[in-house]
Amino acid sequence: MGLEKYWKKRDFEKTKEPEGNVEADDGNIYVIQKHRATHLHYDLRLEMDGVLKSWAVPKTPPTESGVKRLAVLVEDHPVEYASFEGTIPEGQYGAGTVEIWDVGQYILKEKGEDKLVFEIKGSKLRGVYCLVRFKGRKNWLFFKKK
Ligand code: MN
Repeated sequence: MGLEKYWKKRDFEKTKEPEGNVEADDGNIYVIQKHRATHLHYDLRLEMDGVLKSWAVPKTPPTESGVKRLAVLVEDHPVEYASFEGTIPEGQYGAGTVEIWDVGQYILKEKGEDKLVFEIKGSKLRGVYCLVRFKGRKNWLFFKKK
C-alpha cells in the first residue's frame, strides 16, 4: 500500500503527526492508539513491510477470548507514528486527540491475504490474536484466540 494515502490525507504544515517514510528494515512494533476523533476508536497498528499496517477498532480491543471486534483496515502509517501522541488540529484529517493505549511487540504466526495470526506482547493485550478479513472487504474481525 505504501504511504501515499497517508500523505495525501494530511497537511504537515498544520498537523504534528510525522511525515515519515517507508522503512527498509522490518521490526515488530505493536501499538494501539486511543483516538478521540469524531467517533472514539482504537487504532491497532502492526509494523509490517516497512510501515504500520493499521485498523480502526470502534470498540475497546478485546483482552479476553470470546469477544470479537470489528476492525476496519485504514491507510498504512509510517513506523514513526507508533510513538505519536497529541492533538490533531480542528479541520485536519482525524482531528482530535491521540494517546498510546497499549504498546509492545508482536510475533507473526500466520500471514495470509485474509488472515493474520500473531502473538501480542503488550501490557493490556497479551496472547495469540487473529485478524480475519470479510472476503474482499476493508472489514476484518479482531479477536483473541487464546
Ligand atoms: Mn484513528
